[in-house]
Amino acid sequence: MVPNIINFKMIAKRVKEIPFSGIRKFFELVQKSEGIVSLGVGEPNFPTPEALKNDAIQAIRSDHSCYTSNYGMPQLRERIAKKLKDVNGVDRNPEDEILITVGVSEALDLAIRAILDPGDEVIIPDPSYVSYKPNVWFAYGEPVAVPTTEENEFRVQVEDIEKKITEKTKAIIIPSPNNPTGSIMRKKDLEDVADMVMEHDLLAISDEIYEELIYDGEKHYSIGSFNGMEDRTITLNGFSKAYAFTGWRLGYAAGNSEIIEAMMKIHQYTIMCAPTVSQYAALNAFEQEEPVREMVKEYDVRRKLLVKGLNDLPGISCIMPKGAFYTFPNIKETGMGSEDFAERLLTDGKVAVVPGNTFGEAGEGHVRCAYCVSREAISEALERMDRFMRSLK
Ligand code: PLP
Repeated sequence: MVPNIINFKMIAKRVKEIPFSGIRKFFELVQKSEGIVSLGVGEPNFPTPEALKNDAIQAIRSDHSCYTSNYGMPQLRERIAKKLKDVNGVDRNPEDEILITVGVSEALDLAIRAILDPGDEVIIPDPSYVSYKPNVWFAYGEPVAVPTTEENEFRVQVEDIEKKITEKTKAIIIPSPNNPTGSIMRKKDLEDVADMVMEHDLLAISDEIYEELIYDGEKHYSIGSFNGMEDRTITLNGFSKAYAFTGWRLGYAAGNSEIIEAMMKIHQYTIMCAPTVSQYAALNAFEQEEPVREMVKEYDVRRKLLVKGLNDLPGISCIMPKGAFYTFPNIKETGMGSEDFAERLLTDGKVAVVPGNTFGEAGEGHVRCAYCVSREAISEALERMDRFMRSLK
């Protein structure tokens, strides 16, 4: 047997110091357990719409198996540019202001690496998506958390952002709808953020991956469409959530040509291009209004079922989220911390949820319960949680 000569000393200090995602840690526990009902996973349980699958099959049969342009297929960029203009009011040139990426994950990493110098600070709402902070660390930057509160429906407040701005601040990440809280930024919130971004000469990284998943007649706004924000915003979006497309790995970034070119430089040397078959599959994605509408309708039913059920449980309260497919119930009355609660619920109640502090310190006292699972799974989870909560009394 070849001896293992790799030891911990050989791993870069920077990488060693960055912790694994709490979601991963928690799901290792889940995998070791049996008979679990999971509200933990953040991906659609629907199949990819038929039209997208057919276009992918057609692409394979036509031997579309080569690299595409580094920026992505021109016809897909054109389609994305049209969608951004018609739906979001974001006007970008498909030639050099749109980059097709391996999911929003890659777009986010590229955006951060393209704009940060060592020590630059990036403002991040807390709680929010687990990758934001590590991406900033990997780019030798400093993430600066801005806590949000349940009282404000977890919408980041401009006064709180302003307090964190220093001469090193380079950008602010704005996720709307947000993961894990499901909160959305209203037009006025975004206008205030836009004014602040312009006043302090910053950039906005707008993560709009849950754009289509919005309820109660609320409307999605893209900060990149606001006056003066056109060149200050890097708009990130993708196909994973609305098109049940997670494993196809496709997203995009849109912004000023110099920023997109800088992002493309990193992408060119590390990835080359997003998967070709996935790009073909996505060509007609924006025409799939019916399947998307059906999925959103179903998520809405599940959202109401889960929020009502959670509020009926002793010791738990939950505000109604306006977007994405997550609820973020408050478990403070139990006196347990988020991790302790999630671990005990998993072991004793056989339900998997994600501890809220995984998404930032301000998530402590909460857990994330996703409703991208069947109604049956939600009802079963609620019954088990009811028994678990009563056993705590
Ligand atoms: N942004 C947010 C807020 C997310 O929740 C996720 C995935 O869960 C991503 C980005 C990454 O998505 P993908 O890389 O699949 O496009």
